[in-house]
Amino acid sequence: MPTSPTSTPISDCFDCGEPLGDDLAPVAIYQIDGTQGFQHRSCALRSVIGGIGHLLAHPYWCVERHDPDAGLTRRQSALLVDAWVKVVGLETPLPDWETSSAPSSAEESRTDPAPGSA
Ligand SMILES: [Zn+2]
Repeated sequence: MPTSPTSTPISDCFDCGEPLGDDLAPVAIYQIDGTQGFQHRSCALRSVIGGIGHLLAHPYWCVERHDPDAGLTRRQSALLVDAWVKVVGLETPLPDWETSSAPSSAEESRTDPAPGSA
């Protein structure tokens, strides 16, 4: 089991609860009880910029489903956020969620052809 520079045993990620493995964040975080907590680098990234559902479709996953991790575990979401940042980057602005929204059912029905019109 790896140890911190102060020989504090490092256990599982305090964020996702899974073993840390090779994806250890470079610094420990002091938790509210004063103990040091360790987390995955990708989990630290996810905790700052949001889950994969938040990044891909905030109106659906966050607003409608209240699930910024898009139905995935926190760890799975963090790994996809890490991949998303590698592909998209951090400089790309997120969509303007304030002015864009999923179409309402009334709007969707307007685009459907009338029965027998095809
Ligand atoms: Zn983690």
